[in-house]
Amino acid sequence: MKLTIHRGTNQIGGCVTEIESGGYRIFIDFGEQLPGTEIKELKPIDGLTCGDVSKSALFITHYHGDHIGKICDTVADLPIYVGKTALEIFNCLESRLSYIPDPNESDKHKRIVERIKTINTFEQLQKIRIGEITVTPLFIDHSAFAAYMFIVEADNKRILHTGDFRGHGFRSKGLIPTLKSYAKNIDYIISEGSNIQRPNATIQTEQELQKDFELQFRNNKYNFVLVSSTNIDRIFALYHASKNAKRCFVCDSYQTNILKIVSENHKQFTSFYNIDYDQKTTPAGRFFDLKRQGRNPFSFNGKLKSYLDKYGFCMLIRSNDSFKQLIDEYAKSNDSKVYYSKWNGYLDSKKPAFNESLYNFLKPYEIEYKHTSGHADLETLKTVFETVKPKGGIIPIHTEAPEKFQELFHEQATIIPLHDGDVFDVK
Ligand SMILES: [Zn+2]
Ligand SMILES: [Zn+2]
Repeated sequence: MKLTIHRGTNQIGGCVTEIESGGYRIFIDFGEQLPGTEIKELKPIDGLTCGDVSKSALFITHYHGDHIGKICDTVADLPIYVGKTALEIFNCLESRLSYIPDPNESDKHKRIVERIKTINTFEQLQKIRIGEITVTPLFIDHSAFAAYMFIVEADNKRILHTGDFRGHGFRSKGLIPTLKSYAKNIDYIISEGSNIQRPNATIQTEQELQKDFELQFRNNKYNFVLVSSTNIDRIFALYHASKNAKRCFVCDSYQTNILKIVSENHKQFTSFYNIDYDQKTTPAGRFFDLKRQGRNPFSFNGKLKSYLDKYGFCMLIRSNDSFKQLIDEYAKSNDSKVYYSKWNGYLDSKKPAFNESLYNFLKPYEIEYKHTSGHADLETLKTVFETVKPKGGIIPIHTEAPEKFQELFHEQATIIPLHDGDVFDVK
């Protein structure tokens, strides 16, 4: 068995991992580099972007663009595998993006929508065989819903690829039990380390954040939250926070469709994903799917406006001009608040990922920052390594500081720092 990280040994985003055994090869993730990072073009990769793909397949850990964004650069016949709910959400997102005004951008997303039609889906723990390689997905918690770790087995070796994950989300309590049950006898763990230099990124759990939001919604009547439309657990938490604070919950039809996918596929497992979309009897958690009239900005009209004015609301927004009129209308009131619930690096002009249009969108308002990271903190990484006890070692990926692994985790296992493109012989 041979292992190559084509990109991602010393950067966050754009990771591509290849595992080859007996002429078969599987790839894990094929995404775009994060905005603002140094461009590292990939050479053509046999079995992924060129050559014969009859003995290869691509597995995607989750739908973030830095893991899935380059799927259109694969050979057209290459089989791609994505989690079932993840693919449905990704399809909604890409379908919306294919209508954005910039023709180059919209074309890119149209091609992705076409490629999605050919993608295979899997459920957790479903074993998928590509020749002599077996891949088993483990459902874990991340800021993308339906994110997976993969166990890759071949040639009597077992590798665990973590993808992106964390220990402080709503579904994180399953992390260690899942690893104890399924990630036994692991030879190597390829682990993300996004937060290795960001100790403050995870000071709050998602549960604590939900409680904070609930308090805010009790104290403020008109609440606008700018949050990623695919940060599913955050959004369900906002719904529950609104309901507990006896406020209405408002989002547009695109967002409603995404939430309904998750409710449909997952409410039988936990009431957290159960929204009573048709409830009309009480303002507490009353759900409004706000329809947009043509290209007009979003607005509350007639009875809806008087109802929302009376009871208050939490409304989800995106940094898009169609939301501006509504925010401007309410921002004048002392009873209103605008929250920013994404990574603050996008608003920091000193960071490479600085997003100027997002910054300008939020500039007129007083912003309350409420967010916690989608990635594991150091304690969680340590616990994972102690649980899995990889016999061969830990291979860092999706991190800006692979050298820190040695300093932090040398007691847990041997650290194997690879460079992009190194071929590692898995013995
Ligand atoms: Zn990532
Ligand atoms: Zn991610």
